[in-house]
Amino acid sequence: MRVRHKQSGLAKTARQRFDDNIAYAGDCIVWTGVTSRGYGRLQLNNGKRVVSQAAHRFAWEQQNGPVAEGFELDHLCRNTICVNPDHLEPVTHLENVRRGALFVTHCPKGHAYDSKNTCVVKTATGTQRRCRACRRESMRKRRSHHKPAFIVEKRKES
Ligand SMILES: [Zn+2]
Ligand SMILES: [Zn+2]
Repeated sequence: MRVRHKQSGLAKTARQRFDDNIAYAGDCIVWTGVTSRGYGRLQLNNGKRVVSQAAHRFAWEQQNGPVAEGFELDHLCRNTICVNPDHLEPVTHLENVRRGALFVTHCPKGHAYDSKNTCVVKTATGTQRRCRACRRESMRKRRSHHKPAFIVEKRKES
């Protein structure tokens, strides 16, 4: 499988090193390697010396190309060691700070937005967090609504 032809040997090494340091946890891909201040760090050998880069940034850039100047990657799942590119969104520093301050840890019904219960979905207006427990509940309701409602009405008629 060829990913990008311009990928150099170094990038491949970095990619392999990256793959060696991840684990799947629900929808999140968590970094199991070196961390600094809660964020994964990927060690890279740039030919002259070993440098380190934020692991989540590496993951995002592998998928989307370089992060635009002045933007930083916000973890929509709030799991800072998560390196799933789909859980990251480039935002301005100000927006990142604002989101951090506004951050809601629980859904309106009180279910925790943790890595197991949070599902990140892409919508027309951007990326959103959804509560799995609530989704399960509404699906159950919808299911139990459809047929039984019909049956109940039938009973009333007779
Ligand atoms: Zn995540
Ligand atoms: Zn909920």
